[in-house]
Amino acid sequence: MAEIQVVDKEEKLLIQRAYRDLLKSIHSPMDEEDRENIRNAYELAVEAHSKQRRKSGEPYILHPIAVARICAEEVGLGPTAVVAALLHDVVEDTDVSLEDIYSRFGDRVAMIVDGLTKLDRSYNSDSPQAENFRKVLSTLVKDVRVVLIKMADRMHNMRTLGSMPRHKQLAIAAETNYIYAPLAHRLGLYNMKTEFQDLCMKITDQASYQDIARKLQETKASRATYIEKFIIPLKKELEEAGLAFRITGRPKSIHSIWNKIKSKEVIFEEIYDLFAVRVILDVPRRQEKQACWQVYSIVTDVYRPIPERLKDWVTTPKSNGYESLHTTVIGPDGRFVEVQIRTERMDEIAERGYAAHWKYKGVSDSPDVYESWLDNVRELLENHETDAIEFLNDFKTSLFNEEVYVYTPAGDMKILPKGATALDFAFMIHTDLGLRCTAIKINNRLVPMGYRLQNGDQVGVQTSKNQKPNESWLKLVVTGKARSKIRTALREERNEQGAIGKETLERKLAQLKVDMELNADMLVKHFGYRSRLDLYSAITHDEVNLLELKKFKVDGLRLIPPTSEEPVKEETTPEPAPTTFRRSTPPKLLINGEPADQYEYQLANCCNPVMGDDVFAFLSSNSGMKIHRTTCPNAVNLMANYGYRVMKAEWVQAGTSSFKVDLLVTGIDTGPGVIERLSQRISSTLGLNIRSFYIDGDEGFFEGKISLIVSNKDQIVQAIQALKTLDGISSVTRVEAN
Ligand code: MN
Repeated sequence: MAEIQVVDKEEKLLIQRAYRDLLKSIHSPMDEEDRENIRNAYELAVEAHSKQRRKSGEPYILHPIAVARICAEEVGLGPTAVVAALLHDVVEDTDVSLEDIYSRFGDRVAMIVDGLTKLDRSYNSDSPQAENFRKVLSTLVKDVRVVLIKMADRMHNMRTLGSMPRHKQLAIAAETNYIYAPLAHRLGLYNMKTEFQDLCMKITDQASYQDIARKLQETKASRATYIEKFIIPLKKELEEAGLAFRITGRPKSIHSIWNKIKSKEVIFEEIYDLFAVRVILDVPRRQEKQACWQVYSIVTDVYRPIPERLKDWVTTPKSNGYESLHTTVIGPDGRFVEVQIRTERMDEIAERGYAAHWKYKGVSDSPDVYESWLDNVRELLENHETDAIEFLNDFKTSLFNEEVYVYTPAGDMKILPKGATALDFAFMIHTDLGLRCTAIKINNRLVPMGYRLQNGDQVGVQTSKNQKPNESWLKLVVTGKARSKIRTALREERNEQGAIGKETLERKLAQLKVDMELNADMLVKHFGYRSRLDLYSAITHDEVNLLELKKFKVDGLRLIPPTSEEPVKEETTPEPAPTTFRRSTPPKLLINGEPADQYEYQLANCCNPVMGDDVFAFLSSNSGMKIHRTTCPNAVNLMANYGYRVMKAEWVQAGTSSFKVDLLVTGIDTGPGVIERLSQRISSTLGLNIRSFYIDGDEGFFEGKISLIVSNKDQIVQAIQALKTLDGISSVTRVEAN
């Protein structure tokens, strides 16, 4: 029995208060047994964690209590999940065993805790994140609560990440961005997804985050006034129609505003729809659709809509369960305002996703969107052949994306991930239909097999018995199912062909009276193939001259290759000179607090970091240490998959370093003078060197890429500002990544 460490009185009160708040946050019905279980779990966890503290110094037990509360309050989970959440770290971190949990709380709780423990172990081991992710998903199909509690756990850790070292913050943020945010989206937990993204951005791009947060704060009052002005006439009309509703207006998330700033190349002040107005109706299930469209009609009577922005997820819900009717209208002062129309039920599903969905299960007659999604996950998991990274990519393309709705010739609707092709459709219907596919008709017109499906397409597949997939088909599909079926078919084909080649070789070797097994690997090497199978199938295709074997010497059962009489091979041609820019003098960097000189390191080519950028070091498996910007899109992937290879890196000001940076310039083509004026400004006024300059114009517009040599980030900022003020220039931005 672990001794209970005496915590001071204040902390005891803190813990008890946290527990009481947790109990208050549980809204699902509970009986006496539930209450007792929660009490027991709490007491067990308090005792088990009594000697532990979090990095911040506070008693560890506050963490599981907080996680349990997130489960109850934000995910809407019930008592079983609360019990499991309270116990989620005890098996991993304390003397309590899984058997203890099983005997005290039964097999369901023990199973969930076991799943959570395994997820933790895999994270702490050195296995790549892709492998961990596969584990996350296998627990997901067993009991979704494991993943939901894991997300609550991650949420609490993200909210309290402050006391972690920087490199750990980055690794955790990257993994969250890569796995948990899309998973939250997929499970319909919009609030969680949004908060995950905001918290990640706060870590990876602090400056932009703070900037937008400050501006949102500054404009809060004027925004509130505007929303008020927008809502008043609407409210009046809705009340006159006798509808029961509430109406809210709230800002979009910092992350989504930032995305808009980046993708539309506008500044904060130019973003119109900083907020969405939501009309939430209180109507019986049967009248939902009709009521939503009635509100749409009222809204668009008051304000003029932009027809292209109408989105109807009431008639056809998203496959993560989301239901809502969206329109964008032109509000007072000509500003665009997005209006979301939905019912209380739809709103609860939108906010809480999966758990709320179950609450209404049976009420809806539409097919169960989660079940069909989970079926897809199961199918992908059962395909053990793909390696973990490939699996993760398949998963991300086929199961995280938005979807496209298409129809069979019989009129049945099928949902595929956005970006899926006609060939994907064939495989989705049936593996044989995919493998034998010869031609595809969309709306009765022949299209290439790689045609990207559009909403509403009617897809007809033509097949032939003699058709066989080939290597190039892998490029025509995006879904995991299609890819794995094609790969399997190709492998079988190769095995078959290999079998013929193998027999031929065996016969030849038998004639020479030597052993197959003793010589096979030598021959693979001799003929320059990568594997036996490659050699065998090359033999099948007559690509190997087996007459050469006659030149071999026979030594017992072995063949000895002829000693080469060919001239000594030429010196291997030198590697082509690296096209990447080499620093004249290495910039001074600290990696994990130590001078970087002791490492072989390079600045990453993808994001071209410059002194002053927020950076981190990444130890790649085959090309040494790379320095990336924390905002590098590739880096997110790397960090998420190999968080343990991330190291902290920081600049030390040094006099004479130089860096390459790419700027993207767009503008109105004002004749041949543009290039001259740009380069004039760069070299004379700014005193910077241009390494290269591409420019491409079309119908009065041009786009150019200028590579500059700078010595720090400030010079980039100066250059961008100076170029922006030139006549005919519309935008100047730094290239985020190549
Ligand atoms: Mn935890």
